[in-house]
Amino acid sequence: MTSLRLNYVALTDVGLRRSTNQDSGYASSSLIAIADGMGGAAAGDLASATTMNIVRQVDTDLSDVDPLEALGHAVAAANTRLGQLVRDDPSVEGMGTTLEAMLWDGHRFATAHIGDSRAYLLRDGRLTQISIDHTFVQSLVDEGKLTPAEARVHPHRSLLLRVMLGRDDNDADLGWFDGKLGDRFLLCSDGLSDMVEDSVIEQLLGAETIDQAATELVRHALEAGGYDNVTVVIGELVDASEEPDEHLSSSDGQPQLVGAASEGPRGRTGRASSGRDAETTTPAVALDPEELRYAPREPSRFFWVRPMAFIAAFVGLLLVIGVLAYQYTQRQFYVGTYAGQVVIYRGIDVDVPGLTLSHVEEGTGVSVSSLPESYADKVRAGITDVDSLAQARDTVAELKAAVPEVKPSPTPSPKPSSKASPSAKSQDA
Ligand code: CA
Repeated sequence: MTSLRLNYVALTDVGLRRSTNQDSGYASSSLIAIADGMGGAAAGDLASATTMNIVRQVDTDLSDVDPLEALGHAVAAANTRLGQLVRDDPSVEGMGTTLEAMLWDGHRFATAHIGDSRAYLLRDGRLTQISIDHTFVQSLVDEGKLTPAEARVHPHRSLLLRVMLGRDDNDADLGWFDGKLGDRFLLCSDGLSDMVEDSVIEQLLGAETIDQAATELVRHALEAGGYDNVTVVIGELVDASEEPDEHLSSSDGQPQLVGAASEGPRGRTGRASSGRDAETTTPAVALDPEELRYAPREPSRFFWVRPMAFIAAFVGLLLVIGVLAYQYTQRQFYVGTYAGQVVIYRGIDVDVPGLTLSHVEEGTGVSVSSLPESYADKVRAGITDVDSLAQARDTVAELKAAVPEVKPSPTPSPKPSSKASPSAKSQDA
C-alpha cells in the first residue's frame, strides 16, 4: 500500500470590504484547519486566533495518542478558553468562531467541524462538500423546504445554528475521513464559498499545483466582490516516496499560519486590554454585519438584556418617528367644513382610527351652502393644496369672493364646538 504524505498550503486575504481579517488558517503535513471568527471587529479575530492557536497544538507526535480524542480535547480546550475570555471581558460576549480541522495520522483524517466554514474533497476531478453547514438554511434544506440553489441566495444564509461561543451547548461534529492518493481537501471560509460557485471551485481546485489552486480561488473570491475575509487551506495526499516539489510552498516542511492567528494580539476595550499598551487599543466597532449572524440564539448570561435593549430602542425609535410625524402634520393646513361652515383646519385631512390629526384653526363666517356648488364640493372634499395658514386664508378670501352678491353672508358663524375640537381657536371673520 502506498504510503501517503500531505502537501499543504494556507492562504488568506482580508477581502475588499473589511478592514480586519477575522479568519485564521493553518496548514502542515499533519493538520489543516480554518477558523472564521465573528462577533464584531473587536472580538472576531480574538475568537478565531485563540481557537486556532489552541487547536494547532495537536500538530505534534501522534504515535501514542488517538488523533480523534486529541482533536476533540483541543476543540473543547479552545471552547473553554473562549468562555474564560468572555467572563474576563464581558464586552466580547457574543464572539465566536467556526472551526474546520482535519488531522492526518498517516492513514486517515480525524475531523472536527462546527459552523459554516466548509470542507470540500476533490477526488477524480469531482468536487464534494464533505462538511454539512450548521446554518439555518441548511436545516431548511434538510427538511426539504429549500433547495440547495435557493439556500445559496437566501437572505439569511449566514445565520448559524452552531458555532464555538465558549459555552457548553455547542459541540463540534467529530469524525473520521479516509483519504486516497491524489485527494485534494479544501477548507475555506464563507468568504470563498459565498462568492464562488461550487462548479468554479471544482475547476480551480484541480489546478496543476495546490499553490496555484489556492491563489486562483482567492483571486476569484476577490473578483466576485470580496465582501468578506477569504481563506483557503488545501491539503493534498501524494506518494510519500516521491521527492517533494521544491516549487511548492510546503516543500520547506514548515507549518503555515495565516490570518488573525498570525497577527498577534490586538488591543481592545474592556478589562482584556489591561496591561497592554494603551496606544494599541482598538475601539470596538459598534455595528458589524457579522454580529447579525447570531440572531437566532441568545447569549448564555443576561440573555434578556439584549432583547430588552433592542425592544426599548425600537419602541424609542417608533416614538421619535411618531412625534416627528405628528409635529409635521401640525404644520399643515387645509380648508374644509365644520357644522355647515367653511373653516381652516390645522393638521392633515386623513382618518386614522384612534388618532386626531387635525383640528379647526379658524372659522371663516362663510356658509358652505352660500358657495356656488362647484366651490362647495371642493370645500367638502377638503382643499389641501395650501402650504401655510396665510395661503389657507387667501383660499378662504377667494371663496368669499365667489359668494354671489344675491346671497349675502349670514350672521357670523358659530364657534366650532370645543368638545369636538379641544384646541380650536376660532377667529370669526
Ligand atoms: Ca466569514
